[in-house]
Amino acid sequence: YFLKEPYEPKEYYEIKDENYHHIVRVMRMSVGERNFLVFNDGIAILAEIITISEESVELKEISKESMEKEMPVQVTVACGFPKGDKLEWIVQKGTELGAHQFIGFPAKTSVVKWDHKKRENKAKRLQKIATEAAEQSHRQIVPQVHLFDKEQALIDGFPKYSQVIVAYEESAKQGEKGNFAKVLTALGTGDNVLVIVGPEGGFSEAEITDFQNAGAILCGLGPRILRAETAPLYVLSAISYQLEL
Ligand code: SAM
Repeated sequence: YFLKEPYEPKEYYEIKDENYHHIVRVMRMSVGERNFLVFNDGIAILAEIITISEESVELKEISKESMEKEMPVQVTVACGFPKGDKLEWIVQKGTELGAHQFIGFPAKTSVVKWDHKKRENKAKRLQKIATEAAEQSHRQIVPQVHLFDKEQALIDGFPKYSQVIVAYEESAKQGEKGNFAKVLTALGTGDNVLVIVGPEGGFSEAEITDFQNAGAILCGLGPRILRAETAPLYVLSAISYQLEL
């Protein structure tokens, strides 16, 4: 469970509200059972339930989690809005695979057109999915989800990253298939990478030119066409493998 405060050694930790509801009503846990508590500074402890009351649960620390769960490279996955609930799937699986952040943006071939209200509701739903997936895979942070209203907002953010890569299937044909391998070998601790993946219809040449002009590197991900939801998971898996996690 993710807690909103930083770690501070205490005799016991009190949990209320949403996390209380989940422990008591959803998981139906009892005294003696154990949970991971993750504080907002990334410190995680294994804690045992000592009392359950009407509104709160008290847990005592059993041990500190010493294993680092976060990747040494922060990977932000940006997806051109795909159809249906594919973004939900990408956020859930991408969180399990260690993504640091997710961005959704309207690409030229994105079919869905969301107004402000729809985007806000969708972002809330995706953030909940990211939180649950982060709890389930014992992450030390909850990846944040941002849905942009313009593709330009994504491009304007490029300077925040140490590398920006665009998954582009045409690159595999144009002799640029080695780019991804080069990016992988050049990765080092502390880097933060933006990985951009297109929707079902892919990227137009104009979009690709805009990305390149803003400093992005085009990368092929092998000779087969991957679905919009498979490509980010391929990239995250390859980065974890490269960093020997
Ligand atoms: N435009 C393509 C078409 O209709 O044939 C397919 C787009 S693909 C389903 C969705 C996205 O996944 C692409 O925009 C790209 O970002 C990524 N992708 C899929 N296969 C890829 C590959 N082999 N190399 C690099 N990127 C790939």
